[in-house]
Amino acid sequence: MSQLPVDLPSHLCAGLELQVVPNAQPATPEQRAAILADPAFGQKFTDHMVVVHWSEDAGWHDARLQAYQPFSLDPAAAVLHYAQEIFEGLKAYQRPDGSIVSFRPDANAERFNTSARRLAMPELPPEAFVAACDALVKVDRDWVPNGSEMSLYLRPFMFASEPFLGVRPSKEYVFCVIASPAAGYFGGGVSGVSVYASEDYVRAVPGGTGEAKCGGNYAASLLAQAQAADEGCDQVVWLDGVERKYVEEMGGMNLFFVYGADPDNVEIVTPDLSGSLLPGITRRSLLQAAADLGITATERKLSLEQWRADVASGSMTETFACGTAAVITPVYTCKARTGDFVIGTEPGAVTMRLRDHLLGVQHGSTEDRHGWIHTIG
Ligand SMILES: *Cc1c(COP(=O)(O)O)cnc(C)c1O
Repeated sequence: MSQLPVDLPSHLCAGLELQVVPNAQPATPEQRAAILADPAFGQKFTDHMVVVHWSEDAGWHDARLQAYQPFSLDPAAAVLHYAQEIFEGLKAYQRPDGSIVSFRPDANAERFNTSARRLAMPELPPEAFVAACDALVKVDRDWVPNGSEMSLYLRPFMFASEPFLGVRPSKEYVFCVIASPAAGYFGGGVSGVSVYASEDYVRAVPGGTGEAKCGGNYAASLLAQAQAADEGCDQVVWLDGVERKYVEEMGGMNLFFVYGADPDNVEIVTPDLSGSLLPGITRRSLLQAAADLGITATERKLSLEQWRADVASGSMTETFACGTAAVITPVYTCKARTGDFVIGTEPGAVTMRLRDHLLGVQHGSTEDRHGWIHTIG
């Protein structure tokens, strides 16, 4: 990097000074250009990271913007034993005019604290969460791709770092933000996925950690995802953990079901927040976007059996999944012990309308009616 931007904040929030230690050996412009030409997802990282420490005595302290580098971690660090860890995912976009923005970072900051409370971890002031993301994007702004559907994926996370094997909340934590240039999550473009409805495993139960964005939920999901792959499917679909009947989520994305072949009378349905579902920000944004577009949006339970029956009767015309990483992905087929079914073979009209709308708001070609866009610089 030739020069640090001058407008880095001196503090992440009141009382939390940000120390800036630039990477002495950043990627060369050629190396960076090669990565940005084909970034894939989550494989390459920018030159810097933000790290902030918390301890019971000092609270949040020692905030640094420094070179991306490995952590040095005590083998007894609590996270390695009891999985006290949470994370977030959001994106920064480069607009055609060169400005850089992110999408609803305040909502991520708020959800991060909800996850922190559930995992008995300290909350981070939301302004510090957003300022840490902004500072990293500013210092690594040359890493924000400007292609259509491309972005810089930000991964804020927090883990328990206290070296202690007793079972209780850690007294030390590390908060960190890293960034990775991203093309489409499932390899770019809009291609639909096949899903396998897991009847052997559950992701979450009411009262568990399903509403929190924590690594442990993902650890518990990997075997079911592998089973889906063995069955020839791209993704796992989770059913509710109690009755094993109602559709909850797809992998790490929320689901929507589209009713109505008549374009003037369309309804989209998404499972209601049952207590075991992850409340997606894309999900929430699409419920609002649908209202803006004159599409009825409903949150209610939908059973696997009903999903199959409504596809068979023709009343349900499309199914799609949504989340920050992959935006909106059509679901084409569902495989289940109780019978397979085909929803579609190409992206549906409503799916694409919502997808274009959301991408338009994010990339700047559609009006931001709800103040979702946060300008970084
Ligand atoms: C992150 C996540 C989502 C999607 O949330 P967004 O805020 O839309 O990115 C959905 N389900 C799970 C399990 C997740 O971890």
